[in-house]
Amino acid sequence: FPLLSSSDPQLAALLVDEEHRQRDKIRLIASENYVSGAVREACASVITNQYSEGYPGARYYEGQQIVDQVERLAIDRAKALFGAEHVNVQPHSGSPANLAVYLAFLKPGDTVLAMQLAHGGHLTHGSKASITGKHWNVVHYGLDPQTRRLDTTAIRELALQHRPKLLIAGHSAYPRLLDFAAFRAIADEVGALLMVDMAHFAGLVAGGAHPSPVPYADVVTTTTHKSLRGPRGAMILCRAEHAAKIDKAVFPGLQGGPHNAITAAIAATLNEALRPEFATYAAQCVTNARALADELMSNGFELVTGGTDNHLILIDLRNKGIGGKPLAAALDRAGLVTNYNAAPWDDQPPQNPSGLRLGSPSMTTRGFGETEFRQIARWLARVVDSGLDESVITTVAAETGALCRRFPLP
Ligand code: PLP
Repeated sequence: FPLLSSSDPQLAALLVDEEHRQRDKIRLIASENYVSGAVREACASVITNQYSEGYPGARYYEGQQIVDQVERLAIDRAKALFGAEHVNVQPHSGSPANLAVYLAFLKPGDTVLAMQLAHGGHLTHGSKASITGKHWNVVHYGLDPQTRRLDTTAIRELALQHRPKLLIAGHSAYPRLLDFAAFRAIADEVGALLMVDMAHFAGLVAGGAHPSPVPYADVVTTTTHKSLRGPRGAMILCRAEHAAKIDKAVFPGLQGGPHNAITAAIAATLNEALRPEFATYAAQCVTNARALADELMSNGFELVTGGTDNHLILIDLRNKGIGGKPLAAALDRAGLVTNYNAAPWDDQPPQNPSGLRLGSPSMTTRGFGETEFRQIARWLARVVDSGLDESVITTVAAETGALCRRFPLP
């Protein structure tokens, strides 16, 4: 950071430290990734200097000759990548994107049916802590107690009972594929709109490693910064008939000016995701997550649903007698960055739940394959089986650091 180092050495030093942290540790947070240098260049470009309230060709400011082309590029690439009829690339992040869908289609108090947070849903799917759970009547479906998988028969029964206006599919911590055709059939039977929040698995959809919700859903929301490997932002994909409502909900309904540098970076991300190499990446994310899951189970870990079909894994630690929070902290010291997470039917509080969530997108970008992901499982087992012994943690930290040095930052 040559300029920042001279003008603000304190901040520059922090950013260098963060770069080293990302370089020197094995990052396993399922919602994170490493963006390319090209995407970072777009994020840092001068287009950030500009205000652009409105949409291409219909702005409230002059000087939009270039930014209109940038936003159209992002939209056209998203349409091509996902086969969507209409795309809005302006939501500042995933939560406002989801809120825009509520705003577009619902009145306060209307009924929504969505996956509960404690079973893998997202806050914006109607948690009481979120505006979505305060302003709308959200009924939740969860996992089947036996299989710990989603059961669309039970979801249908809830839909028939509560007649939601909006049915939401999508998750932050569910390691299996979703049956979008079944969700569509339920929505049609009760006259609901179907929204799919593919924030977590959008990169897998883009690369053909996960079924696409686009042919089934009225609206699809996604963040751009998880498996899709872009900047922190979001998109809403929808059928042409909903375009005007969605656009109005985003601006002026919820936001002012779009973050133009992010729009440019989303365009750069989509350009990368349209390339054949991205399909290889998406497939490798799934292969790596499966290898990690397999090796964890061989080492006595219990996984929610007994494995994974996507990029993420949820460990239920109850058979290990250790809390998610102290384990995540110990693993971070060992160079393995994870997050604690509620396990379904958790008897522990959210501040120290019984689950640990792991994901493959970041280290797959770094070039890790199945061998490295199996090694990660063995390190995890060593730390857990030692009872979080500091000398074991120090030894593992040296080994994780050495592995990271073999896989430079992109
Ligand atoms: N939707 C899902 C499924 C998510 O997992 C997340 C973030 O974790 C979001 C929405 C919200 O995204 P953001 O954190 O960008 O608001």
